[in-house]
Amino acid sequence: METFEFKTEVKQLLDLMVHSLYSHKEVFLRELVSNASDAIDRARYESLTNSAILEDDGGWKIKISVDKDLGTLTVSDNGIGMTRQEIVEALGTIAHSGTKEFLMALQSKEVKDNPELIGQFGVGFYSSFMVADKITVLSRKAGEKGKKGVRWESTGDGTFSVEEIYKPGKGTDVILHLKDEERHYLNEWEIKGIIKRYSDFIEHPIVMEVEREKDSELEKGKKFKVKEEETLNSMKAIWLKDKSEITEEEYNEFYKHISHDFKSPAKVIHFKAEGTSEFTALLYIPSKAPFNILFKDFQIGPMLYVKRVQIMEHCEELIPPYLRFIRGVVDSSDLPLNVSREILQNNRQVDIIKNNITKKVLDTLEEMKKEEYDNYLNFHKEFSRVLKEGLHYDFARREQIADLLLFNSTKAKDSRLRTLDEYVKDMKEDQKEIYYIAAPTIQEALMSPYLEAFREKDYEVLIFTDDIDEFVLSNFEYKGKALKSVTKGDLEIDESKKEKKEKARKEYRRLIELIKDQLKDDVKDVRFSGRLKDSPCCLVADEGDLDTQMERLLKAMGQEVPQQKRILELNPEHPLFASMNVLFEKDKESPILKEYIDMLYDQALILEGSRPKDPSRFSQTVARLMAETITTK
Ligand code: ADP
Repeated sequence: METFEFKTEVKQLLDLMVHSLYSHKEVFLRELVSNASDAIDRARYESLTNSAILEDDGGWKIKISVDKDLGTLTVSDNGIGMTRQEIVEALGTIAHSGTKEFLMALQSKEVKDNPELIGQFGVGFYSSFMVADKITVLSRKAGEKGKKGVRWESTGDGTFSVEEIYKPGKGTDVILHLKDEERHYLNEWEIKGIIKRYSDFIEHPIVMEVEREKDSELEKGKKFKVKEEETLNSMKAIWLKDKSEITEEEYNEFYKHISHDFKSPAKVIHFKAEGTSEFTALLYIPSKAPFNILFKDFQIGPMLYVKRVQIMEHCEELIPPYLRFIRGVVDSSDLPLNVSREILQNNRQVDIIKNNITKKVLDTLEEMKKEEYDNYLNFHKEFSRVLKEGLHYDFARREQIADLLLFNSTKAKDSRLRTLDEYVKDMKEDQKEIYYIAAPTIQEALMSPYLEAFREKDYEVLIFTDDIDEFVLSNFEYKGKALKSVTKGDLEIDESKKEKKEKARKEYRRLIELIKDQLKDDVKDVRFSGRLKDSPCCLVADEGDLDTQMERLLKAMGQEVPQQKRILELNPEHPLFASMNVLFEKDKESPILKEYIDMLYDQALILEGSRPKDPSRFSQTVARLMAETITTK
């Protein structure tokens, strides 16, 4: 017998497991069964080229047995088995890639606060030390009948022992000597429950010997006990069944099981891909967005299975983040069973799957939009905020994603929102760009003075109320048409306005200079505008600058936004400027003129949804003017 020291990382891991307080200790059984299933898959694979591996022991099988007297729970498989050297490496001296990742994850606040998350990491074999104070592993390599096997044993205290043994059957037995307080895992119903919950879809039979009372055929009324092998898993993966065999209820139940959502999904997407990549996907669009979908720590991606063995709970490599609302299972036939994060990150097969899924989901959404409008409207309400991220991140699919978006607009009626496609189709002949206004609410947008000229021309203006809209759409071009904010830049949608602008600019040149000078600390420039009809003035952002909505969004996101001065635009058709000019010609120093200029700026602030610089002064001036006009009439 020889004794070995565990590798440092393994020691750390063991220490955690031995003193574990985690609530979902039962995951140990999932891990053992999954290892056993892996071992069988490998043996099955090798037997294709070497039939000696089979040893004719009656079919692949994972067996669970309990000994209540000894307090042991054993998981046996007739899979590939391990040699002495392999067992020393696999169970002690080589820390596999997952270990480090796991130890790092344990340091994170998220896991510290939510110990139940541990179960998601696939902590492997060592998790058995959460429930056992000693583990014995007996193994013999498949295809080496008659040769010695190996016995590995440890109490998880830093060392393990290894010795040669005789083991007739191929494969591995993992014997857990359960801690006294964990002996409930010997109960038949408990084991059955765990297997059903975590390993029902395992492809190989998981059997257990159960004692049953049977009526005696010889002596009437007498019963006797028999031991029978019972298969605990259905071995049926719902996603591998034919669509026609699955009821809506089954689909929904499975969704609830994997998502922990109590509501039924809005849409099921079930398909099989063949050709360059073979995989089956059963995906769901939930009907309600989870509360944390916008948080950084939201876990992205469907479950990944490889040949029916669960590899991970959330495989973010399989889905672009802007489709992170998708839940479900992807079962690949091409990926290796021991696939690790590193492999996933640069794997061609994974890219193919991801592409396939992305296309399928976007196509399904398109279909929903056409055929199930109300359902789609609800989807849009819940998830369009996330979907829009794709405009920014998935350049190749920008137009397809844009086509899925619905907008409020000056022409949207009732609950029928507008699409960009409809917008472009309905554009006026002389209209060159797609116009939008960003506002906190639809009502505010509709009342905005910035829309005056557009109404006059009967141009449609999209209304952006989602904080991300402007961020992802301001630099967007749809079918060759640029999107343009109605509050930004020098707008010239009407030729006739151009002349009026020019005329006013010349006529009131010196007045404008005075206004500019008086407001120089507040605005970048003062000019006549092509966008106003009834209102006297408004504030606009310079072509390259952020406009007010965007500035608010960035500030809300905690970003530092440099103070940006805007441009005060005046309505050349408004009689106010002619009157002010008369006053100016009479007395350039007039205190009333000064006061009016300040008020002009205050009005522009109010019109864009901000507060006047000095609200009480503003109100006093308005009241005074009101009183004056009344007395003079
Ligand atoms: P993982 O399964 O994630 O690799 P584990 O700690 O569960 O990590 O197992 C470590 C290694 O031990 C496995 O990769 C495998 O090589 C070996 N092993 C574990 N259980 C078995 C088994 N039942 N049969 C054969 N090899 C096994």
